[in-house]
Amino acid sequence: MERLTGIGVSGGIATGRAVVLMQGARAIRFRIPAAQVATELAALAAARERSRRQLQEIRARVAETRGGELAALFDAQLLMLDDPMLLTRAEAIVRDQQVNAEWAVQQVFEDLGSVFDAIEDPYLRERKGDLADVIGRLRLNLRSGLGTPRDLLNAIDGPCVLVCDELTPSVAAQVDWGKVQGFATDAGSRTYHTAILARSLDVPAVVGLHDASRRIPAGATLVLDGATGEVLVEPSREVLDDIALRAGRQPVSRTPNPQGRRGPGVTADGVLIRLEANIELPGDLETARECGAQGIGLYRSEFLLAETPDEADEEERQYEMYRRLVEGMAPEPVTIRTFDVDEDQLATRERRGATAGWSRGRGNPLGLRGMRLCLTRRELFRTQLRALLRAGRHGRLRIMFPFVSGVEQLREARAVVAEAGAELAARGEDVPDVPIGVMIEIPAAAYVADLLAREVAFCTIGTNDLIQYCLAVDRADERVSRLYEPLHPAILRLIALVRRASDRRGIPVSLCGEMASDPALLALLVGLGLREFSMTPAAIPVARQLLAGVSAEDMRRVAREALRLPTVDAIERRLLEVLSSRPAGATAPAGGQK
Ligand code: PEP
Ligand code: MG
Repeated sequence: MERLTGIGVSGGIATGRAVVLMQGARAIRFRIPAAQVATELAALAAARERSRRQLQEIRARVAETRGGELAALFDAQLLMLDDPMLLTRAEAIVRDQQVNAEWAVQQVFEDLGSVFDAIEDPYLRERKGDLADVIGRLRLNLRSGLGTPRDLLNAIDGPCVLVCDELTPSVAAQVDWGKVQGFATDAGSRTYHTAILARSLDVPAVVGLHDASRRIPAGATLVLDGATGEVLVEPSREVLDDIALRAGRQPVSRTPNPQGRRGPGVTADGVLIRLEANIELPGDLETARECGAQGIGLYRSEFLLAETPDEADEEERQYEMYRRLVEGMAPEPVTIRTFDVDEDQLATRERRGATAGWSRGRGNPLGLRGMRLCLTRRELFRTQLRALLRAGRHGRLRIMFPFVSGVEQLREARAVVAEAGAELAARGEDVPDVPIGVMIEIPAAAYVADLLAREVAFCTIGTNDLIQYCLAVDRADERVSRLYEPLHPAILRLIALVRRASDRRGIPVSLCGEMASDPALLALLVGLGLREFSMTPAAIPVARQLLAGVSAEDMRRVAREALRLPTVDAIERRLLEVLSSRPAGATAPAGGQK
């Protein structure tokens, strides 16, 4: 038996098999029963064949359009697929260690990757990029449909204890806590938000274990004590029996919304908080409803562009999609954000006419994207606006413009809405009056929120980008990701500024960034005066639960203090002090309306 000691942040005892989630590598490692080894090996073989077919297709396309020299790069990748150093080794890992194939593939990459790093010849060293490409493709093909951590964890049988390098609140919100009995993380002091989340969910948790995710083998039996901060690895039968006797912890139902609650969140002092959902695919609507969302606060419409374009019927295709959303969410409102893509993403779609290569977060964050791009691509924009206006006849639809930096852009965009309306009218169609709002996600927009607020029906603060642009931290660049800090005093001040400007103009303001799905930050945002949020659907029940245990008035005081504190650390400490001193049971579910 091995005993690891960290910081217990949420009491209770959890026992189960270890499942290891490496957020950094986006990989999950779990032990498979002996009987499943053959299935896993078959999946590996199928992924190899799928990858081979894809690479051959890409090779042929590249040879046709870009010439043989470039196409030859893919020969190297095809050869790698047959190299015994790669898949034969991965197969051996699956067999010997009885772990899932995806982890075995990742393991081979890490081993081979260090061999490449040690090579002196720069040309050969750079082949590591090809290897990473092949591994990424294999892993994607192995998952086929298992995308989010929730999907991955769902693939695991039986109760387990999650061991991770770090667990961000947005990932924690997607975990099936009915299956996962508790969690342990390597990261320590910075996981406080997750710790608060753990307490809200009543999940035992230990943080600050440094290298537990590397030391604990997948499938090892674990006992985790969230009060003492101890994690026992492969404890003896006697220890397990003893713990079973003492534990007595009632398993909590942790399905996304066990009581099927709907309606607003209600703070302990009775303040109503509107909770809507951020979704990306029309299929997410069902999840939003299940989680009790009071509407869709952000539909990222650009995900529609990931589908094959159908120029002839593009307006019709989009109209049907928007209409289904609006009708599916009725009587609640749906806020649809116009396309927020960048030039590269759009060019890829237009070139290939398919999803390949379309990925969020690529491209230049300061380049031609969002509203800027739409204003240079009027036809694309007008088509979307016509579809939106038509869908507006079927329910409570709102149109939201992303990435606006000032009033000029807003006016220009509104003029395009008018053009789209005129086109519909010329066709003899009704043009409904659809509310138009802006996202506040560029610091300039926050500073002129009072001016924007005069000309829109609502504002939505997009903290994901606001933080990135305000702090000059690329949110996709992990080398600077530690500087991406929602609690930076500048961020809190900008949010307060926008909230005040909107209130003065009497228009609703909501917040739809990731920040809202972090319970500790949500409490502070309520203190800053915000009353409407949109978040990842799975975070809604947790938010509702947390809100029931905090007083908006207390939070208002903390927020006032926070706005004067000089550092992130000081703000964090104060916030945690207040949230941690909530009386036991303060997180009992609110009496939300059904
Ligand atoms: C945001 O910027 O906060 C936001 C919600 O938009 P996205 O994450 O889609 O850029
Ligand atoms: Mg954004």
